[in-house]
Amino acid sequence: MSDWLHGVRVPPLNIRDLRDFAAAIRSASQLDEHAPFPVLHFLEWTMHELRDGFDWEIVESLSDGDEARAYPDGAPHYPGGPLIQMLPQVYDAASLNKGRARLTILHECGHVLLHRHVSAHHRGMVGAALPTWENSEWQASQFAAELLMPVQSLKTQVDLETYVEQMGVSREAACNRALQLERTLRMPLPPWPVAVYASSHRRKGGAAMQYV
Ligand SMILES: [Zn+2]
Repeated sequence: MSDWLHGVRVPPLNIRDLRDFAAAIRSASQLDEHAPFPVLHFLEWTMHELRDGFDWEIVESLSDGDEARAYPDGAPHYPGGPLIQMLPQVYDAASLNKGRARLTILHECGHVLLHRHVSAHHRGMVGAALPTWENSEWQASQFAAELLMPVQSLKTQVDLETYVEQMGVSREAACNRALQLERTLRMPLPPWPVAVYASSHRRKGGAAMQYV
């Protein structure tokens, strides 16, 4: 689940915190900034090393229209450790290098790694009233973006199609990321049609504009 409006308050983490954490993970895997992040290897192997007792499973359905879900402190049927559930189509799409599914899986990994002892999937319009850095959904999505698209990878002149294929991300995620780095780090935009693909570009309002 990655709807920032449904985020809950969690201990604050800013972009730099999340960027440093993601960079440490990439560095431990000896990935340079232009290498695609190995999402399924991370799910199936590395997550066990980062969180004791971690497991994941494919389920045929999830409530509330979710495609994937994280239980950082274990699920009712799986109390022994943190768990991620996902629909089969999410795993299949990730195995085919589809950017949206890869982002979804890392978003859920972010919940497991960042949100112990937090009810991260409480339902309610809480997220809209929260500062982004205390919003569980913003934190998980930002963690995923930092893993998939390191800052240095955006310092590029390659066209959008080449970038999304190379990094295994969606056009929307790539363009949102480019706009975020332009706004926060004053980085020049790559030569991409960001206005066409960036959902953050189309959103109105202060809270929404902060979620990119
Ligand atoms: Zn979520």
